[in-house]
Amino acid sequence: MEFFGHIIDGVEVESLDGKRFDTINPWTRQKWGEVAEGGAADADRAIASARKAFDEGPWPRMGRNERAALIHQLADLMVAHTDDLARLDATDMGKPMTQARHDVARSVWNFRFFADHQRDHLGEVMPMDSGHHTYTTYNPAGVVAAISPWNFPLMMATWKIAPAIAWGNTCIIKPAEDTPASVNLLGKLAAQVLPPGVLNVLNGFGVPAGASLTGDDRVDRVTFTGESGTGSIIMAAAAGHLAPVSLELGGKGANIVFEDAELDNAVHWAIESIFRNAGQVCLAGSRLFVQSSVYEEFLARFKAAAEALRIGDPFDPESQFSCLASEEHYVKVRGFVDTVPEQGGKILTGGVAEDGSWMVRPTIVTDLPLTAPQYCQEIFGPVVVVNRFDTEEEVVHLANDTRYGLNAMLFTENLSRAHRVAENLRAGTVWVNCFFIRDLRTPFGGVGDSGVGREGGNYSREFFTEPKAIVMQIQR
Ligand code: NAD
Repeated sequence: MEFFGHIIDGVEVESLDGKRFDTINPWTRQKWGEVAEGGAADADRAIASARKAFDEGPWPRMGRNERAALIHQLADLMVAHTDDLARLDATDMGKPMTQARHDVARSVWNFRFFADHQRDHLGEVMPMDSGHHTYTTYNPAGVVAAISPWNFPLMMATWKIAPAIAWGNTCIIKPAEDTPASVNLLGKLAAQVLPPGVLNVLNGFGVPAGASLTGDDRVDRVTFTGESGTGSIIMAAAAGHLAPVSLELGGKGANIVFEDAELDNAVHWAIESIFRNAGQVCLAGSRLFVQSSVYEEFLARFKAAAEALRIGDPFDPESQFSCLASEEHYVKVRGFVDTVPEQGGKILTGGVAEDGSWMVRPTIVTDLPLTAPQYCQEIFGPVVVVNRFDTEEEVVHLANDTRYGLNAMLFTENLSRAHRVAENLRAGTVWVNCFFIRDLRTPFGGVGDSGVGREGGNYSREFFTEPKAIVMQIQR
């Protein structure tokens, strides 16, 4: 049995009241560890540690090169522990090891990218006709509370921690209660190279642990990834002490296949976009629109590819697809699947594995009305709703007819159409003839219920720093 404590001031600790909760391996459905259950007093300790490290410690005062070097050392330690970190995510949420290793590599890159970015992206100088010049500096904002979801436990946490600490802030991360393990190891690795209090890990549930961070006026920034409803609660809590928030929320991505698309490529990415990580991806292409003239052919190839995915134990190197992350989530996803017939839809392939496991197989649904919950709401599982369309105008309207706006994909060989449709889609990211490709310099975030603000490159710098204008008189 493993134990995952809080990491406060560089030391792993129990909760002050000694409370723990169980963590479950969703593949075996067995308890595999215990986690310190943080309450308000533990949050207070974590905030006090981060506050002291910011107000008195070396981190915000350190030179940029020195800070970058330490963050690269942490990244090196993570590389050395790739299999350990991947094992923890695979055990905690049932993610196939191959995908978990990929998440570790991306997490390492989050640190390396922001370590270099803060070193290389300095302020601007603006000479003025009046004989002055103004220059800008980007100073650390203070204590950052970061709250992350369970679908990419290490990757989403590091996407928040890396820019926060790289820009000289101190941080408290609260990982999702279902998946605390990899962030616990990250906290221990960080304690080997970073000054105490720069990265604190607080475990526990949204309330009280998360809420004790977001509502505390010693916290200067709140960065959150999770459900849209939780995002609005967090925004209200942070508003009480005017802390800026960055919210990366849910999605219901449109994936559009035009008749001139290279179909093998479109099928490949349609599969990746909805079945990777068992569809537990905010960016999932969960609403698939296929032009009528290629609808039958695309659907036949898509179905065959979905049925060819190797389903199994996350630790089997052959597995491409595994169970859902928790029983609670399984019950939610199966509710959407079970009610497809009563909504008038057909399950072309997939469905719930009735074997006691928390498995929903790669599921393709057709013929649903556009008012069905499966079409309108985020399922966050391996369930795609397929529709046909005839014209470009029609599909742009369909794609945009949602409260979400995180991302969209489109497949066409027509360059003008690609630009035109990409321009007209209401989404934070549009992928053309591809999916999931990320350049960390670019803005990442969503429109509408998919989020508030953008992170990535200079967008992260704007959020995690306080820019300052210094006006110098040059000529008298
Ligand atoms: P969730 O909102 O239930 O929980 C996310 C985190 O918030 C957890 O750590 C939870 O403990 C914490 N939390 C819950 N209530 C809180 C409160 N009142 N105060 C403070 N913290 C609180 O989300 P989830 O189920 O873990 O994750 C799935 C959701 O995340 C999906 O909607 C998905 O689309 C979204 N997501 C978005 C992105 C993105 O980049 N836009 C990326 C990954 C996941």
